[in-house]
Amino acid sequence: MCGIVGYIGNRQAYPILIKGLQRLEYRGYDSAGIALLNSNNDLNVYKAKGKVSDLVHFVQSKDTEGTIGIAHTRWATHGEPNQVNAHPHFSQSEELALIHNGIIENYAVLKQGLIENGYSFLSETDTEVLVQLIEFIKKSNNISLTKAVQLALDQVVGAYAIAVIEKGQPDIIVAARKGSPLVVGIGEDEFFLASDATPIIEYTNKVVYIGEEEIVTLRRGKELRIKTIGNVEKTPEVKKLEMTISQLEKGGYPHFMIKEIFEQPKTLSDSMRGRVNVEGDHITLAGFIDNKEKFLNAKRIIITACGTSWHAGLIGKYAIEEFARIPVEVEYSSEFRYRKPVIHPDDIVIAISQSGETADTLAAVELAKSKGAFIFGICNVVGSSIPRNTHSGCYTHAGPEIGVASTKAFTAQVTVLTMLAMMIGKEKGTLNNENYLKIVSELSKIPEKIKEILKQNDRIAEFAKTFTYAQNFIYLGRGYNFPVALEGALKLKEISYIHAEGYPAAEMKHGPIALISQEMPVVVIATSAGMYEKVVSNIQEIKARKGKIISIVTEGDVVVSNLSDYTISIPDTEECLVPLLAAIPLQLFAYHIAVVKGCNVDQPRNLAKSVTVE
Ligand code: GLU
Repeated sequence: MCGIVGYIGNRQAYPILIKGLQRLEYRGYDSAGIALLNSNNDLNVYKAKGKVSDLVHFVQSKDTEGTIGIAHTRWATHGEPNQVNAHPHFSQSEELALIHNGIIENYAVLKQGLIENGYSFLSETDTEVLVQLIEFIKKSNNISLTKAVQLALDQVVGAYAIAVIEKGQPDIIVAARKGSPLVVGIGEDEFFLASDATPIIEYTNKVVYIGEEEIVTLRRGKELRIKTIGNVEKTPEVKKLEMTISQLEKGGYPHFMIKEIFEQPKTLSDSMRGRVNVEGDHITLAGFIDNKEKFLNAKRIIITACGTSWHAGLIGKYAIEEFARIPVEVEYSSEFRYRKPVIHPDDIVIAISQSGETADTLAAVELAKSKGAFIFGICNVVGSSIPRNTHSGCYTHAGPEIGVASTKAFTAQVTVLTMLAMMIGKEKGTLNNENYLKIVSELSKIPEKIKEILKQNDRIAEFAKTFTYAQNFIYLGRGYNFPVALEGALKLKEISYIHAEGYPAAEMKHGPIALISQEMPVVVIATSAGMYEKVVSNIQEIKARKGKIISIVTEGDVVVSNLSDYTISIPDTEECLVPLLAAIPLQLFAYHIAVVKGCNVDQPRNLAKSVTVE
């Protein structure tokens, strides 16, 4: 995954590139590097293991002059995270420097061919193969950089967003993409280049999203030029960015994650804005209305997603099956894309991804499309690859999510899926008007109810301290709360590195109950809506084995509270909406444990925000 950034114009490139890398650090942060062409025509490349701040430290007192440059923050796929494997990579003659996001799948074959032609390699990366290939093609054919990139990419199998600069060519950056995102910002006599718009927004709101298999040449003071790898000229389509800079800053919070948790009353209102009317009695989802017949005639819905989005998908399944009575399968994109699934033309495939760039989900979309299914995307990043590759969809409108552990994007996905399920059910007549009205009205009250839950933040922070000793956790829930248990466990694993498992509460006795002892904290979601008595029995089983119980209950609950060591209460709501409330204390709980343990909450080890590699 990794982030790439580039600049060419009249300003000094270095500060722009470093700031851009900091914005993109959520995409990868095991090493970072920068290449600058200075006015003496030296091509300076600096790289450091670790974060962007380590790079800044390393570069101190080095020559950073130059008005053209490229930079990279890495999430290693090929070769360990060290200085040599960090990007940019030089070509053999050190005349070209290249950065890359993605994987060159046929790098071994290409490398062998280059070795036979006298090339040697310093790093273990697939990326270095590409820069050498470009140089080899360029020198053997005596052609321009753009042409050489075009011919080289024609030989490449895999995914990439790349940018290359050349010694002696201070007026041009060549970039290209396939499978990994790339966006160009257009300023006054200057261009910006990045994996997403966050490094660009403070300079210009005019952007061009580079399409699949397109090569873009950024020439100083000239028009943008785009060609396909197949050499077809393209007219750049300039779009206006709506995002603001303050949406990207921490706004006084110590971490993006806690800021994003606290933003949820607003982000859920944003998800519902223009969709749930102010009276709270009607839902309109354009993505559904435009494709009503498809949804009403669907024999089956397949939801494909990864990680947290997969958990949202599972909640979506419960809601769609309950309200719309259409069978739903929820698939891990990485399995779905390879396991030869049965897909019919009258299936609807819903792809869920916060970034809209998740490589496995994008591939699942392509597969389902090739089988003739109707594809509906639920994504957060506007203009990203999945929305561009689906037939229709709904944005979640949660705003930029920077914390690697997803919080507000999850609740926004659940909100959109719930609205979709209700719309289908209403139109099909499988959800009666009385229930529909009750749920819409409750849905519109969810943001206020989340505000109530957030007031318990200090108390949750306090008792979270008690659990930093734990090596393992179990999370239990039933019905709609089962996916919430999975999501709660995932949050804890991701940011505090404590092993946690989510289970359907009744499954516990088929295995995990063997783990229960006084050492084992068990988080149970035991709200009054949804098999309450059954969950109470499950809690008794834990209590009998001396497990520590942390429960999420409905306000006013006495029974479960009395059985629990710690209780967090949430306001009452409709059963299908409980996940939107129950997820909040679990996010806070995971956050505070991680903070007390001194973990890097926004950039947990080994993870990256958008998984744009397989
Ligand atoms: N495959 C390249 C590497 O390992 C780029 C990885 C990425 O896109 O994060 O260096």
